[in-house]
Amino acid sequence: MNRMVNTSQLSGCASESAEKSERPLIRERGQHEVFCGLTSIIWLHRKMQDAFFLIVGSRTCAHLMQSAAGVMIFSEPRFATAIIDERDLAGMADVHEELDRVVEQLMKRRPDIRMLVLVGSCPSEVIKLDLSRAAERLNRVHAPQRRVISYSGSGIETTFTQGEDNFLAALVQEMRPEEACDKASLIVVGSMADVVEDQMRRIFSGFGIDRVSFLPSRNSEELAEVGPNTAFVLAQPYLGATAQALERRGARWIPALFPLGEEGTTNWLKAIADYFEVDPDRFDSIVEPGRNRARQAVAKYREVLEGKRIFLFPDSQMEPSLARFLQNEAGAEIIEVGSPFLHRHHVSKELAQLPDSVVMSEGQDVDRQIDRCRAANPDLIVCGMGLGNPFEAEGFSTKWSIELVFSPIHGYEQAGDLAELFARPINRRGRLEVDV
Ligand code: SF4
Repeated sequence: MNRMVNTSQLSGCASESAEKSERPLIRERGQHEVFCGLTSIIWLHRKMQDAFFLIVGSRTCAHLMQSAAGVMIFSEPRFATAIIDERDLAGMADVHEELDRVVEQLMKRRPDIRMLVLVGSCPSEVIKLDLSRAAERLNRVHAPQRRVISYSGSGIETTFTQGEDNFLAALVQEMRPEEACDKASLIVVGSMADVVEDQMRRIFSGFGIDRVSFLPSRNSEELAEVGPNTAFVLAQPYLGATAQALERRGARWIPALFPLGEEGTTNWLKAIADYFEVDPDRFDSIVEPGRNRARQAVAKYREVLEGKRIFLFPDSQMEPSLARFLQNEAGAEIIEVGSPFLHRHHVSKELAQLPDSVVMSEGQDVDRQIDRCRAANPDLIVCGMGLGNPFEAEGFSTKWSIELVFSPIHGYEQAGDLAELFARPINRRGRLEVDV
């Protein structure tokens, strides 16, 4: 559900210079408005074709999933909610039995499930349940033919993209150790549209890098092997827990910008190419056509976006990368970049691209942020759905951040679509004003 959490005892705005070289950062711990981690199941269940996500939650969780992914009721869905009613601690033994019974029924009815994912939520009855222990117990019955894993999508701990981070970190535990091989392998970490993965694969193959896997894989049996000869690159900026889990398994992180827009994609591919010692001329000849297509596609929207003042509320954690793209490639002026949580290490290259005049904020105190936004009077507000309509009613143009997670926006071929997503609401408002 779209939550308004009041943590007023922690509320407050603290402006501070974290480290000498870092820009001033507003840290807020007040009311925040973001979707919870369960929401990520909507794109994750489409990625991993043989996984089933069983949310252990309340009626609220079931309603969220049903309304957010309503179309699924017409097909055999690959997620469901096991509703846990109010229990005291003494009733927990029954809950475990009930969960085992639900899983048993599900496994019988759906032989296509190869990986069952138990997803924790935030009702107190669920917090009392140890889902990792439940997964261990269920694995004793169903593994190795079918694996059971668990992670938390609870709204208390996670924003919507952190649900993916927790899922991928749990998948890392399932990866086999790499077999001895002289050739280094690459894992691309973070959900991207299948069409984008296919484009990336063709580019890697042009570079001569053939041991490439994607996390999440399209099916649970294709999970990559991992070890000291594995390098990984992040395709999404919200994957701190997953990166740590891979590093604990010996894999090495390749730092880069994120592959959004021509500049981000080129920097990301160059970092990979350098790690794998790809000849620079070969690199240029492979990427040049894509770079040109991306530049031309973005140029079509530059005339709409150039000079536009944009305010990004914290939502997907992609905000620093989006701001860099909007500023460097579309010529927009960025006013504030909010992020629910900043993985400073992973986004340091993105932040270095933004001038000191851009306000950075981490966390949220939504009323204060709304006041800052209104005072700045931006041309476009990038925000969650809960804020979008009220801002539209006040006459602002808005873009829902969640659309950026559901749309293919990575890589050269999608750079124009990414620019178009921001240009569309500005064009629409322009048309409305003319019509009125
Ligand atoms: S996990 Fe928590 S925030 Fe998310 S839908 Fe369930 S009750 Fe709401």
